[in-house]
Amino acid sequence: MEVLERIDAVQKRCEDLRLSGKTLGFVPTMGFLHEGHLELMRIAKRHADVVIVSIFVNPAQFGPAEDFDRYPRDTEGDLEKARSVGVDIVFLPSVPEIYPDGYQTKVSVDRLTKHLCGVSRPGHFDGVTTVVAKLFNITKTHIAVFGQKDYQQLTVISRMVRDLNMDLDIVGVPTFREPDGLAMSSRNAYLDPEQRRSALSLKKSLDLARHLLEKGERRAEEVKKAVEGLILSHPHTAIDYVTLCDPVTLEDVETLEAETLLALAVKVGNTRLIDNCLLGGASKNEDIPKQKGQRE
Ligand code: AMP
Repeated sequence: MEVLERIDAVQKRCEDLRLSGKTLGFVPTMGFLHEGHLELMRIAKRHADVVIVSIFVNPAQFGPAEDFDRYPRDTEGDLEKARSVGVDIVFLPSVPEIYPDGYQTKVSVDRLTKHLCGVSRPGHFDGVTTVVAKLFNITKTHIAVFGQKDYQQLTVISRMVRDLNMDLDIVGVPTFREPDGLAMSSRNAYLDPEQRRSALSLKKSLDLARHLLEKGERRAEEVKKAVEGLILSHPHTAIDYVTLCDPVTLEDVETLEAETLLALAVKVGNTRLIDNCLLGGASKNEDIPKQKGQRE
């Protein structure tokens, strides 16, 4: 496994690989890797000849009061894990490598970023799309793999790729969970044992919503109330949002007639966690969306 820190080195290596006829698969991460990340890498490996992973805690996607400084980091452990799943190249840039003096360009997706996490994290998605666009230009990858756990991020990036005619395919991967259902996240490391128990309320509330739907409930407001009630019955929880929305536009819905996204952001102690599921319709939330040109 090659570990590269310089943009020009990655660009040259990736260009050579493309010219030699290899297909490239790319998994961008912020490190502190867990099984969810590794699953993305395994899937990239199934779709491409060469897998590139970036590890970069991107300051541009953190707000001033957010956890950039204390975001968990473990470069040595990450490299070991990436190696264990057969990653070929790890790109490990510094902050000035990505944002050198004089840097002043932003990539911004408009309406999709106004909803869900965009409300309480202004500027967050501009930070994400900017760094991801740069990473796509650096790696010139054929495919890039993202988790459905960050459903809005996946939607926003897919939109950016279409809108800017970026020549790659996006693959979305279902949320990888701990055995008890908690969605894996680097931020789970912040939770103490009691908070860890309360964090389970997110997955439990998704299950409750599914159950209510099966029993015939179609009113978004009722489902939302039940979900909020369940979450708030656990200690240390505060709701950022519980939203039932159209899975394509992310606009709120009042009734659950068509397929609906239930998305949650909850603070457990000081840790902000997100989770989501697709409800109703011809729900295919456990499937990886097939993308144009995707290799079997
Ligand atoms: P992060 O390091 O949190 O920026 O995540 C890097 C990538 O891993 C993103 O595409 C995330 O959506 C994805 N990811 C994070 N957690 C999970 C999970 N539990 N299951 C699937 N993908 C995940």
